[in-house]
Amino acid sequence: MIPFLDLAAAYRELRTEIDAAIHRVLDSGWYILGSEVDAFEAEWAAYCEADHAVGLANGLDALILALRALDIGAGDEVIVPSNTYIATWLAVTAVGARPVPVEPDPATHNIDPARIAAAITPATRALLPVHLYGQPADLDPILALARQHSLSVIEDAAQAHGACYKGRRIGAHGDVVCWSFYPGKNLGALGDGGAVTTNRADLADRIRVLRNYGSRVKYVNELQGVNSRLDPIQAAVLQAKLPHLDAWNDRRRAIAGAYAEGLRDSGLILPHVPDWAEPVWHLYVVRSPDRDGLQKRLAGAGVGSLIHYPIPPHMQEAYADLSLAPDALPLARDLAGEVFSLPMGPQLPPADAVQVIDAVRAAV
Ligand SMILES: *Cc1c(COP(=O)(O)O)cnc(C)c1O
Repeated sequence: MIPFLDLAAAYRELRTEIDAAIHRVLDSGWYILGSEVDAFEAEWAAYCEADHAVGLANGLDALILALRALDIGAGDEVIVPSNTYIATWLAVTAVGARPVPVEPDPATHNIDPARIAAAITPATRALLPVHLYGQPADLDPILALARQHSLSVIEDAAQAHGACYKGRRIGAHGDVVCWSFYPGKNLGALGDGGAVTTNRADLADRIRVLRNYGSRVKYVNELQGVNSRLDPIQAAVLQAKLPHLDAWNDRRRAIAGAYAEGLRDSGLILPHVPDWAEPVWHLYVVRSPDRDGLQKRLAGAGVGSLIHYPIPPHMQEAYADLSLAPDALPLARDLAGEVFSLPMGPQLPPADAVQVIDAVRAAV
């Protein structure tokens, strides 16, 4: 059996460092914010080539607090990809704003910059691209549109730890960049975690206050904040893991290279990488009109796969109130019916990747 992802293998690889990090926090007697969170924030900001990082409870909160820090709420519109994990949309509706979906470039599955201008209205406040599957969105035209229309840019980088756009790390191209450290992400905690990175001191400061009850000084509350603090135990685990992130992303790249070579003439539509993109292969997503049959035959051969994502946000019951018909966003609808993700992760043995290739070739 080759599982889609083996998180216990990731823990085993670094057991000594991770156990020591956890015990350091347990012994410290300091269990909320403090030096472990400060230290990880400094390391994460440096890694992302950003001036500031703020540790948060999860990636959804990172998006919500980014929107709140920019004063985006009721009556405002935010442009989002039609093809994304639902968290991107949930953040927008959580602050009372309206998600305005834009269809993807069918080659990359990322938001198509050429379609964004037509979706901008006087109510638009921000563009919210997602670096989907660890592949950077085409940021330059997005940033140019934002400048032209005085909009903010919030990046959903929950799948893109370490990815580069035109040679520069994802982390501070837009106004604020949102991260998740959910266990399965390229940099994952042993529980929930999140962060924002930014070069804007005003936004970092506002999010820092918002995450802690709107308080800078204990029992003095300047904003109606929330409790969304990165746990110091998770901050310590993330410090132990961060020095390995580049090597792990290299292993993902090697697997993606093997898949690209081994499946080149298989009939599957393989991921397209623009020449300015350095993706980190959070997911290796392939496309076929016979997706459901293929997935079943692969499962029969002992190869796990998952669908990212089977129902696009506009077709979810949660967004029935937006009254978007399935055909309103046909590209997102069609991708959801045809994509699936092959096993991918730094702990996937290269021999297993070869077995996946053989199983896929036999299944098509
Ligand atoms: C994982 C993810 C999120 C949410 O992160 P959580 O930490 O699970 O809240 C948001 N956007 C995308 C694209 C994600 O993949």
